[in-house]
Amino acid sequence: MANIAFIGLGNMGGPMAANLVKAGHKVTAFDLVAASRDQAKADGAAIAENSVASVKGADIVITMLPAGKHVLSVWNEVIPDMTKGALIIDCSTIDVESAKQAHALATRHGALSVDAPVSGGTGGAKGATLTFMCGGEEKAFAAAKSVLENMGKKIVHCGGAGAGQAAKICNNMILGISMIGVGEAFALAEKLGLSHQALFDVASTSSGQCWALTSYCPVPGPVPASPANNGYKPGFASALMVKDLTLAQDAANAAGAATPLGKHAQEIYKAFDAAGHGGVDFSGIIQHVRSLAAK
Ligand code: NAD
Repeated sequence: MANIAFIGLGNMGGPMAANLVKAGHKVTAFDLVAASRDQAKADGAAIAENSVASVKGADIVITMLPAGKHVLSVWNEVIPDMTKGALIIDCSTIDVESAKQAHALATRHGALSVDAPVSGGTGGAKGATLTFMCGGEEKAFAAAKSVLENMGKKIVHCGGAGAGQAAKICNNMILGISMIGVGEAFALAEKLGLSHQALFDVASTSSGQCWALTSYCPVPGPVPASPANNGYKPGFASALMVKDLTLAQDAANAAGAATPLGKHAQEIYKAFDAAGHGGVDFSGIIQHVRSLAAK
């Protein structure tokens, strides 16, 4: 069992750290927010005074933070105090450029590093069923895999430094675009007098089939577990979709890739967010689509 430092105990990090305790690891945790530290303590983690204190003597350091600037700031702080040759894993969703800078920082200090953003949301974090998309050297990935398996059920090595973040934003760009497409199809069906169930029965077994339709249907009824049946309570909040689509656009601009639908999806989710719906599940975008119709 490993000595693990866990920094960032929010909606995702809190339950992930709890699963590491359950798996038998010695977890030393830190978050800026006292309530999150208290919860981690109740879950069986030791609480450090600050980030630097949490990494002393750790074999593995894990960060789960809001954005690239937080990750670079924490990694800059803690890496000089890590045991030589220890492993640092960032599970946050951040921009590819910051992820690469974070890896370079670790390499300079002789630490192994992995970027390992996740998919599966807070339910996956609680149930230890997350998918981890990993970037980094083979040796670092091999060292990270067994501990990630305590928090998730699918661990994929996507390539070198930053490849995990690249996979994450490409996947979520598909998701944002396809959810708008599914929402538009249901909004059109409503105008044409076609029932939700009829469209679902046809499209879910035809060429329109996709995850946004069959696992996360944006209208109530056809998929009972989807947020549409629960007042569009997240799930995955629209504000987080804006974040991921913006990361995808930043990466596309930096790399010179054309992503016209990704750009349009970002604009549509931004408008939904700006109208005060950032806390609504991202499948609620169908409401925005309906509101665009000529009255
Ligand atoms: P969150 O805001 O609930 O948690 C982030 C935590 O980081 C907070 O508790 C905050 O206090 C802490 N923090 C910030 N700066 C810190 C510092 N310097 N030192 C210590 N702690 C610090 O966010 P979350 O929902 O847990 O998401 C974390 C990451 O996971 C984000 O990058 C997000 O995009 C990604 N993600 C979230 C979901 C989801 O459904 N919530 C799904 C997949 C990926």
